[in-house]
Amino acid sequence: MTDNAIPPATFAPTTTRADSQHADGTLIDRWGRHISYIRLSVTDRCDFRCQYCMPMKMKFLPKREILSLEECLRVARVFAELGVTKVRITGGEPLVRTNVEWLCAQIAKLQGVREVAITTNGSQLPRLACKLRSAGIRRINISLDTLDANNFRRLTRTGSLSVVLEGIEAARAAGFVGGVKINVVMMRGVNHLELPQLATFAIERGMDISFIEEMPLGDIGHSRGDTYYSADEALTDLRRIFTLSASDFDSGGPARYWKVDGTEQKIGFITPHSHNFCASCNRVRVTATGGLYPCLGQNDMVDLRPALRGESSDDVLRHKILQTMAIKPKGHEFDVYADGAKVVRFMSATGG
Ligand code: SAM
Ligand code: SF4
Repeated sequence: MTDNAIPPATFAPTTTRADSQHADGTLIDRWGRHISYIRLSVTDRCDFRCQYCMPMKMKFLPKREILSLEECLRVARVFAELGVTKVRITGGEPLVRTNVEWLCAQIAKLQGVREVAITTNGSQLPRLACKLRSAGIRRINISLDTLDANNFRRLTRTGSLSVVLEGIEAARAAGFVGGVKINVVMMRGVNHLELPQLATFAIERGMDISFIEEMPLGDIGHSRGDTYYSADEALTDLRRIFTLSASDFDSGGPARYWKVDGTEQKIGFITPHSHNFCASCNRVRVTATGGLYPCLGQNDMVDLRPALRGESSDDVLRHKILQTMAIKPKGHEFDVYADGAKVVRFMSATGG
């Protein structure tokens, strides 16, 4: 390992277990990992078409297939009863879903839920930041991959940098301040030269920032191997302008953090390719149609929608969730250099 290298995660799945609940009733998967975090997608729709996420001509699902907000709330409640403490609302673009702030407020009130967070492209924050704050959201991740207006347009295809910057300011003005984190997907030849500038932007405004290695989810028209930019390369770039020290801060997500000396800020890296983090996975994802995916990078899924739409009791839902613990894979098998994506779902379809 070089001086610059990100320390490897301890990967020590224990024994396989047949049971899917810990003695205290909380969820445990067959590798002994505790599952305390769900990412709940409220829509597959989006007002952007980011190059790394979806094709320009994206086909969205018929609305009748999408869970109602009440169905989403029921999913969150049953997970909370099984010991889930953190819920991240995502999509697609979650803030294009009408009345999403109602759902956030209801989930924030659920017994056992300690944190409701949201991941957004920021385009609707000028309108919604205050409402989300009032709904009990305390942490917002905002995607921002470039500070160059033309590049932003090229990368998102339909987005406007000035609106997103306005959204970031609206979130800070609404009182989120330290609760805003910037997310950047790194792409060689697209934004890799801008990473130090993006970090400076975040740090100057008192925000943390995470850099994400691009994942091969769905075929989006470019070879992921051509655009792959590793966290180690980014770390070398960033160390030219910042003094960074490894931090053991744990946000409850997959990022590993470095503290920026002389500031309160942290720089995180989400490294599915260069430093596998599956050993410490604590989460599952529910799609906007009620598909429960135990792993972003695999195709295994249990469909919760029939139980949500029928007359089924919560017991049936609980049973399906427990079944999913028993099939949660050990980890993803992403290969950015493979021909075609092994996982054909776009990131927006699963919920990022
Ligand atoms: N629309 C919101 C946004 O962009 O923040 C939330 C949904 S988006 C799918 C969630 C996160 O996934 C964003 O940070 C986005 O940049 C990231 N993302 C999307 N496609 C990705 C990919 N193929 N590899 C890595 N990250 C990806
Ligand atoms: Fe939309 Fe987010 Fe995907 Fe971009 S990354 S297309 S904003 S869902």
